[in-house]
Amino acid sequence: MTGSPYLTDEHEAFRQSVRTFLRKEVTPYAPDWERDGTMPRSAWLAFAAEGLLGLNHPRSVGGAEKDIFHSVVFLEELGRMGFGGVRFAVALHAYMATSYLSTGGSADLRERYLRPAVAGERIAALAITEPQAGSDLSLLAATVRDDGDDLVIDGEKRFIVNGLFADFFVTAIRTGASATGQGDLSLCVVDGDSPGVRVVPNDCVSWRASGMADVTFTGVRVPKANLIGRRNSGFMQIMKNMQLERLAAGITAVGDAAERLEATWRFLREREMFGSTLSAKQAVRHQMADLLTEVTATRQLAYHAAWSYARDPLSINECSMIKLKATELARTVAEHCQRLHGAEGFRAQSPFVRRVQDAQAATVAAGASEVMRDIVARSGFEELR
Ligand SMILES: Cc1cc2nc3c(=O)[nH]c(=O)nc-3n(C[C@H](O)[C@H](O)[C@H](O)COP(=O)(O)OP(=O)(O)OC[C@H]3O[C@@H](n4cnc5c(N)ncnc54)[C@H](O)[C@@H]3O)c2cc1C
Repeated sequence: MTGSPYLTDEHEAFRQSVRTFLRKEVTPYAPDWERDGTMPRSAWLAFAAEGLLGLNHPRSVGGAEKDIFHSVVFLEELGRMGFGGVRFAVALHAYMATSYLSTGGSADLRERYLRPAVAGERIAALAITEPQAGSDLSLLAATVRDDGDDLVIDGEKRFIVNGLFADFFVTAIRTGASATGQGDLSLCVVDGDSPGVRVVPNDCVSWRASGMADVTFTGVRVPKANLIGRRNSGFMQIMKNMQLERLAAGITAVGDAAERLEATWRFLREREMFGSTLSAKQAVRHQMADLLTEVTATRQLAYHAAWSYARDPLSINECSMIKLKATELARTVAEHCQRLHGAEGFRAQSPFVRRVQDAQAATVAAGASEVMRDIVARSGFEELR
């Protein structure tokens, strides 16, 4: 018995295998990847060999087509591992960029891009954000010109996770005549090695191993067959796939916060001053008890959101709530835990500083907290209208 109505013994056994894999294949090397700002190909292949890049993808392209709680367990463990760059590189590849191909890609696109992505042979990035268009996608400006069977793309994309080493970009473009608005956006796949694609490292202080980059497309030629779904259906596709992106961001944040708290509690039990350990001081105990209560409640919200998403992929309210709640909580936990470690928490190279920076960025990426609040205020009270 797992003690959770959502998780079976099979899920818990899977959790142990994921934990063992991460301890063996990732944690020892992740500090180097974070330092170098990239993840080696061998790491991607190792994730794929373990079946972790295709848990949610169909068997027809080599995926495992497991129920949502296998993904929940994987994402929670990915968050617990504590290396934000690795966590987001992998989550973005498996749950964010490639989900557009799973849900809307043609059979041909699935064969050419999704199958090798599940196998870890081709790395995916998601290129939506632009200098003027982050929260407000109606300002998206990347343009295309029709030229026979091709689209010719010009545009600038910013803060693209996996950008430095991506083999392909799932890219949002404007395919209609209007300069603003949501009605004529489309998504297409751009090969990373296409002429006219320029990738420049982005110096973001967070998620270092994720190969974050700014990407410019100048006259990039893409076959129209690379359009994902119908032309001008991009906004609906983004709305649909965003829910998985936000759910995944929330679940990894729960894992991150839970691990931080446990590690800090171990430290507090060892650290002695004024005649007792820090863990015995009421001010500290109460702080930790409040945070543990919050993490426990948020984990249940995450499981509920996952259950809800499995029934309806347009569970906008639940996915926005968990993105908001879990990423804000992980930031609060990271900051408290940093301070409870005293001065050691502020060494530039300490994991505490990195955890805070990574957690802060997660409250902006995939939709800033203010945007999540707006969505929840709108959709959460809908039935009272
Ligand atoms: C670490 C990281 C990784 C990322 N990875 C990717 C990626 O792989 N691909 C990709 O396409 N994009 C990526 N992004 C971009 C991300 O999606 C955007 O940063 C996000 O959508 C916010 O857009 P913006 O940065 O342009 O901020 P803006 O839209 O300019 O907003 C600035 C701030 O204004 C506030 N705000 C926004 N809207 C409202 C509102 N309605 N009411 C009140 N306040 C508001 C928020 O505090 C927000 O942070 C990443 C970002 C980060 C930080």
